[in-house]
Amino acid sequence: MTSPLHIVCPHCHTTNRVAAADLASAPDCGRCHQPLFGGHSVALDGASFERHVGRSGIPVLVDFWAPWCGPCRMMAPAFEQAAAQLEPQVRLAKLDTEAEPALGARFCIRSIPTLALFRGGREIARQAGAMGAADIVRWTRAQLARAA
Ligand code: ZN
Repeated sequence: MTSPLHIVCPHCHTTNRVAAADLASAPDCGRCHQPLFGGHSVALDGASFERHVGRSGIPVLVDFWAPWCGPCRMMAPAFEQAAAQLEPQVRLAKLDTEAEPALGARFCIRSIPTLALFRGGREIARQAGAMGAADIVRWTRAQLARAA
């Protein structure tokens, strides 16, 4: 019997406690009753970024992007496909660095898109440049295996 994982709801950002064994059986949020894993990334702002990255019991892959960035927009569908494949082992999230410049500066994001992988509130890997869905999935799994 393993202790429950903290899963932050992508809709209302409430922290839920979910048994690891129940992750794959489509758990709902105890507060807003929406699925905790819908196969989509979650759009973060400053406050929800702290919640997801700081409290999530599963790794969080953040796409630092901006609306004016062509490669970012091109990568967006691939990132959603990767979310469908990586959930519920990994939470995928997007941070608009134009709307939240303080976070971009705090993490020294020099070029976008940049993917940063967080575990336990700590950044364990990052990769700059647009990637296809298969490469995002492969890169993320490789970083988690390496850092295990
Ligand atoms: Zn919720």
